[in-house]
Amino acid sequence: MSDVRLLGTVGDARAFCEEARARGAVVGLVPTMGALHEGHLSLLRRSVAETDVTVVSIFVNPLQFGAGEDLEAYPRGFEDDVRLCAAEGAEAVFAPGAAEMYPAPPVTNLDFGELSAPLEGVHRPGHLPGVGVVVAKLFAIVGACRAYFGEKDWQQLAVVRRLAADLSLPVEVVGCPTVREPDGLALSSRNAYLDPAERAAAVVLQRSLRAGAALIEAGERRTGAVEAAMAEVLASAPLLGPVDYACVVDAATLAPREPLAGELRLLVAAHLGGARLIDNLGATVPT
Ligand code: AMP
Repeated sequence: MSDVRLLGTVGDARAFCEEARARGAVVGLVPTMGALHEGHLSLLRRSVAETDVTVVSIFVNPLQFGAGEDLEAYPRGFEDDVRLCAAEGAEAVFAPGAAEMYPAPPVTNLDFGELSAPLEGVHRPGHLPGVGVVVAKLFAIVGACRAYFGEKDWQQLAVVRRLAADLSLPVEVVGCPTVREPDGLALSSRNAYLDPAERAAAVVLQRSLRAGAALIEAGERRTGAVEAAMAEVLASAPLLGPVDYACVVDAATLAPREPLAGELRLLVAAHLGGARLIDNLGATVPT
């Protein structure tokens, strides 16, 4: 196992990345909230393969949790995380405390307009603005880099791409495919909240997405018909709690399309036991 540098302060992280770039190294950044699983590791492996120096950030960002959400309960496993980062070839782990990242509560607010208003924006109103601030800070601290994000969080990926483009940040955002369990459930730190019966039921999210995508594949072009089919599959799961959304939208703008055309994304979010699960899948209608 190679050594991994532990960086606890903004200054140390900035100095580490500047020194790497001064040597001509391309820096890869993998932002996470820890409790690392194979989904995170797929990002890390891609960064190690495509860049010279990989920095994994581990920070449970209070700003992106709403009141009554699972900030306190969020799974944490710092020592295992560092061990995994070292084993996979990361050069550094940046793990600042909350007071280091936010010496004062930020008053800067990032609004991503039509990109952050629907979907998660409806059900977790402060979430994407909170993600935006922490990602902007990470990009400012790490500097020019390639940054790896999962398609698992499709709306987050869309927002982060626009953040980098709109503000001309020297960051190339790389989206990586969702890593799934053998039954199709997307890996997520929050799957740890599921008991065995809930875990078995969780596959319904993926089934709902597949049902919607299959209808589109079969020629359905009405948004409502696809969304109704997705909702029907979700309704068939005995344990599933409230469904926040089951939608098909334009993959890039996240706006509704009627009739369905071009690159589309099907997205679902639903509560199951103590967890809120999200997933998404792509579909294409040739134009
Ligand atoms: P998180 O720790 O949940 O904030 O996730 C950190 C990064 O890992 C984000 O870019 C996520 O989209 C990504 N990620 C989480 N789960 C998966 C997964 N199952 N497959 C691919 N990427 C993932």
